Amino acid sequence: MTKRQCSVCGRNFEPDPRVPKQTVCTDAACKRERKRIWQQQKRQSDPDYRDNQRRSAKDWAQRHSSYWEEYRLANPDYAETNRRQQQIRNNKQRQATVAKMDASTLHQPLLAGRYRLTRIDGNDKAISGIWTVEITVLSGPKPRS
Ligand SMILES: [Zn+2]
Repeated sequence: MTKRQCSVCGRNFEPDPRVPKQTVCTDAACKRERKRIWQQQKRQSDPDYRDNQRRSAKDWAQRHSSYWEEYRLANPDYAETNRRQQQIRNNKQRQATVAKMDASTLHQPLLAGRYRLTRIDGNDKAISGIWTVEITVLSGPKPRS
């Protein structure tokens, strides 16, 4: 039997003759990694699988409701690191929103025309229906037609 190269660790291995498409060696870490990649692709391509996984994770979390609470108490460094990383993500999100607003006012002057208008709260969430409004620009660029 010719040797193959493991697609995870890169070492050569002797494939099992019963598994003609074997791409991963027999190392437990490599098998885990292969399964992780398979699950990731399955979640992306199969909505039923994705819903199932989400539902069972939710069920598990309900049956073990104190798990993460106890984990955080037992691992205070983990909790602190997580909190700091979440703050960084929140700040990035906030900055991205501000940057988008600046870009639209700088590079796209308001043109006359019909617009859809939605009232939003402080977190940019829509809080009422959509209005169609007609905006007439008294000075500035005219819309191209
Ligand atoms: Zn391997």
